[in-house]
This record gives sequence, C-alpha cells and structure tokens, in this order.
Amino acid sequence: PGSTYLAAAPLSLEDHSKSARNSRSSLPAPPIPEGIEGCIGNTPLFKIRSLSEATGCLILAKAEFLNGAGNSPKDRVALNMIKMAEEEGLLTPGQGDTIYEGTVGSTGISLATLARAKGYKAYICMPNDQSTEKSDLLTHLGATVERVTPAPITSTEHFVNLARTRAKEHTNSSGTSSKGFFADQFESGANYKAHLQTTGPEIWQQTGGHVDAFVAGAGTGGTISGVALYLKQNMGMSNELKVVLADPEGSGLYNKVKNGVMFSNTEREGTRRRQQVDTIVEGIGLNRLTENFEAGRELIDDAVKVTDIQAFKMARWLVEKDGIFVGSSSAVNCVAAVATALQMPKGSRVVTILCDSGTRHLSKFWKKVGEAGLEEGHDQDDLIELLSLK
Ligand code: PMP
Repeated sequence: PGSTYLAAAPLSLEDHSKSARNSRSSLPAPPIPEGIEGCIGNTPLFKIRSLSEATGCLILAKAEFLNGAGNSPKDRVALNMIKMAEEEGLLTPGQGDTIYEGTVGSTGISLATLARAKGYKAYICMPNDQSTEKSDLLTHLGATVERVTPAPITSTEHFVNLARTRAKEHTNSSGTSSKGFFADQFESGANYKAHLQTTGPEIWQQTGGHVDAFVAGAGTGGTISGVALYLKQNMGMSNELKVVLADPEGSGLYNKVKNGVMFSNTEREGTRRRQQVDTIVEGIGLNRLTENFEAGRELIDDAVKVTDIQAFKMARWLVEKDGIFVGSSSAVNCVAAVATALQMPKGSRVVTILCDSGTRHLSKFWKKVGEAGLEEGHDQDDLIELLSLK
C-alpha cells in the first residue's frame, strides 16, 4: 500500500488502442502481418557491392534467408503446398493430420514451422549426411525426424520414397481418422507455382522489369523454373533474359543443359550417393529430372559448373568484403553469377538468390572453409583470379 509501483489493472487491447489513438496522430500504416506465415515473401533485393565492382555488372541478390518462418525460399513453397492441400481437403487443421516430407532440410524446416502455426504435425525423412544444425532444429520445432542412410532414388529407402511410404502408412493405419499428407516438393506443382506467383513478380517489381540474367541452382528446380517462367513470360518470352543454372560438382543437370544428356556416365544413374561423395554443397544439384525442373527446363539458356573450392572462396570473400554470411548453395549461386556477369556487357543486371544463412552450415560447409585454410583471410584481392575465372 502506498507504493507508487503498485501495478495498475491490466489494460484491455481496446484500452491500449484508445490510449494510443489519443496520444498519437493516426498515420496511415501498412497492414500488420497475420501470424508467422504473414512474414513470408517480400524479401529485399540488394546489390552485392564487391561482386558488382569486380565484374562491372550489377550483381543483385534476393535475400531469401530473410523469409520469416523457416528462413529460406522454402517458406514460400511450404506455405503453398499446405494451402493447396487444404483446398483439396488433404489436410484439415486441428484433426491430428501430419505432413510428411523427404527433404535435405530447408523444406522440412519450413513445413515444421508452418505445421506448428497451423495445427499440424510434421514427419521429416532426411539423409543422415546433412548438417546436424538442420536436424536438431527440426527436432526443436517438434517434428519427428527420421534420418536415413543415403540411398539411390530407385531404392525404397531413399528419403523421398520413405516419406511417401510413411504418409501412406499413416492414412492406412486402422483406427486413425487423421490424414497423412505427402507434400512431395520434388514433383508437386505447388512448388514452382509459389515462385511463379511470388518470387518472380517480386524480382520483376524490384528491378522495374530490368533483369539481364537470372542465376540459380536447382535442388527441386522449383525456384529456377518458377522465376524463369514469370520473368520470361513478362518479357514476351524473348531472349533478352538469360537464365543460368548454377550446378555443383556431382550433379547431372549441367550436362543436361549444356549437352542435352543427363549423365556423363549413365552407369552411375540411380546408384550414386551424391551428397555424400561428390560435394559438400547442400540443397542443390540433381541426378534425375523432377517435375519442378521440367516445368522450366526449356527456359534455361546456360549452366555454370561450380567446384567446392570456388564455393569456399566465395563464401569467405562475401564475409570479408561485404559482411554477408551465407550457406553453401548461396555461395555456388554467387560464383555462377560472377561467371555469368563476365560473359555479359558491362552494366548488365544479374539477379541471384541467397537461399539460407551460414548459421545452418557451421558444422559442415563452414568447417571445410576453415580447413581449406581460408579462415584467416586471403591476400588475394582479385576476385576473378581467386575463383580461377580468368
Ligand atoms: N538452397 C538450399 C539451401 C536448398 O535447401 C534448396 C532446396 N533443396 C535450394 C537451394 C534449391 O531450391 P529449389 O528446390 O527451388 O531448386
């Protein structure tokens, strides 16, 4: 009693807005996002200064790691896959329905986050050679994680096939009224359409329709297909825009784009364990043609093969020169963006994607950057020479 610090009766929301109205003029305000899913999309497009200076072109990066739910472009895809499933009655909130997915991580993280926000469970099958940051995060998000030994896509034990099976088992199990929904990011049209409907239009708006090249890797192919479709459609399908695939070591897509053949050695088809053997890069590179890659394949004009060592050097360079800390697929995209810019007239605008943050890749990719002797910085100030692109 008598204390000036006695708590006042709590204000209701209405009281709060009344007092706010009384104390401030009412400025026109943009709409407030509804829930975490409202924080997906509308990511910034920014100039990467050091890469622009080194190439004489404008290298523009779409900061997809700033998507607000799972912090990657997969937020857009996960949101669209869930929305379409709800519309088709394949998922109903609050009924114990479970979303199943096979993923190397990013899509699982977006699905697990949105599952929480929307009243679903998530069950994620992922290869056990991916960085533990991603599987730990999935567990903390409340997803069930099944980590599997990498297996060829023809095997029932491949993480995608396993997720499909688990969804069927859920739906068929006796005494269950809840549904198991297999999201199927590799083959579902909801994937590339998310980029056709959001990422593409955003890039168009942010550049005022002035894009000379778009450079991206393909994990499912959703990003490159969706964005290429939107941009080329808006340019009247002209050849003004060059679409370039960024491909890591061990992926078969480079050969498909350059030579029309999928595999340099067809005997290896379906048997190789790419993620484990050929590259440290996570999230991009394919040795099969997916529906999402096929959706835009004819729009891809060129491909750039990027080595792991080039990706390490780029990742280190972006931190040192620009303060940008990215994951492996973003580093690959940036190497390919620079290689593309060097083939184009000075002043061209090259747009690429920064998919996720380096914080997702501390234990694998960034550890390798350190082991490659690049952690102390390098005395090479010529980016083109550093990347051996001369
Ligand atoms: N980067 C990362 C980190 C990813 O996880 C993925 C998707 N697997 C991609 C890039 C490639 O995107 P997309 O699936 O749209 O080809």
